[in-house]
Amino acid sequence: MSLAVINPATEETIATLEPAGVEETDAAVGRAARAAPAWRAVTPRDRARLLRRLATLVEEHGEELARIESQNVGKPISGARGEVGMVADVFHFYAGAIDKHHGETIPVAGGIDMTFREPLGVVGLIVPWNFPLNIASWKIGPALAAGNTIVLKPAELTPLSALRLEQLALDAGIPEGVLNVVVGKGSIVGARLVAHPDVAKIGFTGSTEVGRGIMEGAAQTIKRVTLELGGKSANVIFADADLEKAAAAAPYAVFDNAGQDCCARSRILVERNAYDRFADLLTAATQNVKVGDPAEDDTEMGPLISAQHKETVASFVEGQPLFQGDTPDTKGFWYPCTLVEATNDDRVAREEVFGPVAALIPFEDEADAIRIANDTQYGLSGSIWTNNGARALRVARALDTGVLSINSNSSVRVSTPFGGFKQSGFGRELGMHALASYSEIKNVFYATEG
Ligand code: NDP
Repeated sequence: MSLAVINPATEETIATLEPAGVEETDAAVGRAARAAPAWRAVTPRDRARLLRRLATLVEEHGEELARIESQNVGKPISGARGEVGMVADVFHFYAGAIDKHHGETIPVAGGIDMTFREPLGVVGLIVPWNFPLNIASWKIGPALAAGNTIVLKPAELTPLSALRLEQLALDAGIPEGVLNVVVGKGSIVGARLVAHPDVAKIGFTGSTEVGRGIMEGAAQTIKRVTLELGGKSANVIFADADLEKAAAAAPYAVFDNAGQDCCARSRILVERNAYDRFADLLTAATQNVKVGDPAEDDTEMGPLISAQHKETVASFVEGQPLFQGDTPDTKGFWYPCTLVEATNDDRVAREEVFGPVAALIPFEDEADAIRIANDTQYGLSGSIWTNNGARALRVARALDTGVLSINSNSSVRVSTPFGGFKQSGFGRELGMHALASYSEIKNVFYATEG
């Protein structure tokens, strides 16, 4: 059966594709395996040049890629432009990282001991629909830099930007077979990559539930896995913070990408003596979020990805919300910006909504804030707002989460490590840290005594 790719802002079909099955997946793994020996032999300098050329082509085709992403995900074009800019930056970064990811010599008796960073071989990359090209690049960049070949499976809902990138990689001169994109169902193509004996590693971003299955499946062939999973991150606002600034920023930490963001700070924890004032400021700021046509330059929030997902998101809102915004009266899977008051035991505070719904939760003091923030199975991201520097660092050290920001909601950067604690997964993407999980350390002893 063919696969209809939908624009979630209009519900129109924008492409029809033939989804791959097990046979096509095996063929792609075969191409990647055949391309592997030559790719690992490319000199670091030349591999860097090829990655840099890919980065430049992404920049040159930036508007085209941003439009593809905006139409396929329903995300505002301004956000899509920023994401494509990051994709180019990721490839530039890993082009520059190739000759800085090196081994060491270790003093031992009787000879010289040295280590090498060897590629893993063929890696299977499985990515979600919320930031399709961005998240793919976080895996492709270090995987190629470390000398691996790739089979990439985009989400069925959003395959278009990955297919375009596959062409751009060839245009950049990256040899055929090095980057292969296979479009098809997770339960077929994804599962086959996990089971395939010639795939050395799975780099996965997606839900905790699917991640758990991938970990189980990978055990059969002792595959390496990196898992970037769900989140339920806390935005912790102390009464001594710049409340205006914190409230102005908070909506964009939840409603960006219509809340379909694993880093969404969807639990807003507010110190009780500042709660009422902060709730007023937050409501006013949320009213200003511009929801509408993703193709417009000033749109800040688009629709959800699908009708089914909209139903799931709506199921989290029970009773009268503190605030609920408007949505366009047109076709599309729209859901309004929604603020609810909650306790940390409510479903809206425990499960990942993955939509524009934020839960306001009061806390009593610093210890209570830490307790509530950590009272979740997840540990991906979070923010701390306070003008007390010592408190900011105390709380940052106490939170069981992988990526934090203080007096800011921005914690994802090309050069800094990204990944979760607890059931948000393990392994780190971005920065130099990502290279470690796309290579093996080989230790060699060379006897020098006669
Ligand atoms: P899913 O886990 O449903 O899907 C992610 C990817 O896995 C898709 O490509 C999907 O394919 C594939 N997949 C589905 N089933 C299997 C399977 N049995 N074996 C192998 N692959 C499979 O997540 P969503 O796409 O719905 O994305 C939303 C989730 O991703 C949220 O929970 C969110 O938190 C998380 N996420 C985490 C991020 C992070 O960095 N920590 C970043 C972004 C999202 P297909 O859809 O084609 O069936």
